[in-house]
Amino acid sequence: MKVLVINCGSSSFKYQVLDMPSGQALCSGLVERIGDAVGSLTHKFHPGAADEVKHSQEQPFPDHTAGMHAVVALLTDEKLGVIKDLSEIAAVGHRVVMGGEILQKACLVGEAEKKAIRDLSPLAPLHNPANLQGIEVAQALIPNAPSVAVFDTEFHATMPPKSYIYAVPYDLYETLHVRRYGFHGTSHGFVAREAAAFLGKDYDTFNCITCHLGNGCSMAAVQNGKCLDTSMGMTPLAGLVMGTRCGDIDPAIHAYIAQSKGLSVKEIDTMLNKQSGLKGLCGVNDMRDIHTAREQGDAKAQLAFEVFAHAIKKCLGAYYAILGRVDAVIFTAGIGENDNHLRAEVCSGLEHMGISIDPVENDKRLGKPRSISPAGTRVPVLVVPTNEELEIARATLAVLGK
Ligand code: AMP
Repeated sequence: MKVLVINCGSSSFKYQVLDMPSGQALCSGLVERIGDAVGSLTHKFHPGAADEVKHSQEQPFPDHTAGMHAVVALLTDEKLGVIKDLSEIAAVGHRVVMGGEILQKACLVGEAEKKAIRDLSPLAPLHNPANLQGIEVAQALIPNAPSVAVFDTEFHATMPPKSYIYAVPYDLYETLHVRRYGFHGTSHGFVAREAAAFLGKDYDTFNCITCHLGNGCSMAAVQNGKCLDTSMGMTPLAGLVMGTRCGDIDPAIHAYIAQSKGLSVKEIDTMLNKQSGLKGLCGVNDMRDIHTAREQGDAKAQLAFEVFAHAIKKCLGAYYAILGRVDAVIFTAGIGENDNHLRAEVCSGLEHMGISIDPVENDKRLGKPRSISPAGTRVPVLVVPTNEELEIARATLAVLGK
């Protein structure tokens, strides 16, 4: 059975066709610069396999529909394609960032669900309108395949009120739905389950701390397989230091910057989302570039690395305290999976908490779940590659009862 997974942004979208239940990615790709004079489409046939073929094309994509037409042509292409015709697509799974309190579980998308996703747009103005556009384009182009929405917020829907309520006037929650929602939920859920399976533990009694560290970064405290707390908030701006996002800062900084620099709310929002984080501290947001600069003695790059790691370590301690028992600490996503320096820095000096790292294991690279702590450590530290597309495909079929 083949499932098409779509992750749609405002001027780009990612796609993947997975063979289910094996979970094998048959093809994947990215359409970028939709609406620009020239856009690009990158398509991989059998990504990551020995027979991988990469194909790129440049052309204008006036809108998402045009991009999707080009993708459909590739999916059915004689050489690069993975299906004979669109009837082979059993379902389309869509990543939708914000489900709010209305859409707490993955669901089949009909008119009522589309309205709900649209109504939630004020809470996720950059994401939900684009996600909805992806759903509408796919429904028009592949009308026989059911569309399922899988929400970034779903995994965090189990948080208790003490985790998600902010200490602001309560009516802001009641009238404007101001609360912590959390994001990266498909990733946190996926790696937590993978880690329990890797350690041979029962997921329903599994406690862990998941660290999703990519361009966006978030952590989750997972108790008995359910999210107890997470670092992102009402929006993905909160919590850890990220590539270009500031993470947690004193809320009074807004008013101070507005008064002293005369900036508007929108300008401050852009600054905190796009010009802060690692980039704001040292000018670059890719951790690999930061390591290169550190090696050359760049003091700001060193500071950025330390601030980034310090925020993760603090959150680790906080989640350890609220969980009581921790069965594993899990690193995932671009930085979490690849950056041995960062993992070593975060876990340094935590031996008294039962957390330590074996330097030899930490320096290895392996595309599957593995332990990087010495044998017999009280709290195993794991590196678990995330696979949000697979999690979305699984959730899609679960909704359809397939
Ligand atoms: P993601 O958002 O999960 O795709 O992660 C992207 C980020 O992972 C990049 O911006 C890099 O900062 C980081 N990254 C990727 N590979 C490495 C690596 N080998 N070492 C350190 N960071 C890496």
